[in-house]
Amino acid sequence: MQAPGQTHDAPLDALLGRYAAGALDPALHALVAAHLEMKPDNRSFVRALEGLEADRLLETPATPMNGREAVLARIFAEAPSRSQPARTAHGSELPFAIRRFIGRDLNGVAWKSLLPGVRECKFGSTDGAEASLLWIGAGKAVPSHTHDGAETTLVLRGAFSDLHGHYEPGDIAFADSDVDHKPVVDKGGDCICFAVTEGHLHLTGPVGRIIDRFFGPR
Ligand code: ZN
Repeated sequence: MQAPGQTHDAPLDALLGRYAAGALDPALHALVAAHLEMKPDNRSFVRALEGLEADRLLETPATPMNGREAVLARIFAEAPSRSQPARTAHGSELPFAIRRFIGRDLNGVAWKSLLPGVRECKFGSTDGAEASLLWIGAGKAVPSHTHDGAETTLVLRGAFSDLHGHYEPGDIAFADSDVDHKPVVDKGGDCICFAVTEGHLHLTGPVGRIIDRFFGPR
């Protein structure tokens, strides 16, 4: 199922626009590059954005761009990209952009258990954005939480749902301080995500508040 807003909604438009303009921090740049490996159809959208004036995009990062319908019409008139998804390039389980960013493949990740069924590996922060991989077991949930800033999550394997949609490999989920959610992984298999957070997460459930100090910034 297509996650609501995954086609070309305002947050994704803005993220792809900032990517096309070269305005993303390295972690988000890697996240978008990996998304484009996994969703080759969006490459033509980015190419169209790259043809627009970058300064104008930077001035309107969070609102639908002018002439959006004309750009979309031109994109969808094009033949689909012949490029193939590169998520398993060279036998890797991670998209190339993620592998290059974290400097290792999945089997080299030093997971740290956060909660039963939830493992994480953090890769430090750049420009105030912290990158991490999350491995959440089939049917498990991340405790309810909200955010100080933006949280951008790319699904690499498996799928999860929250109140806002169902996210499959290659989909990007957006959350911010207005969003209090509890992502639940599908029962069919474990879910691995690459997340970039600006600001801290805050657990909001009754148990969550108690364990926030474990799950929160360290
Ligand atoms: Zn979140």
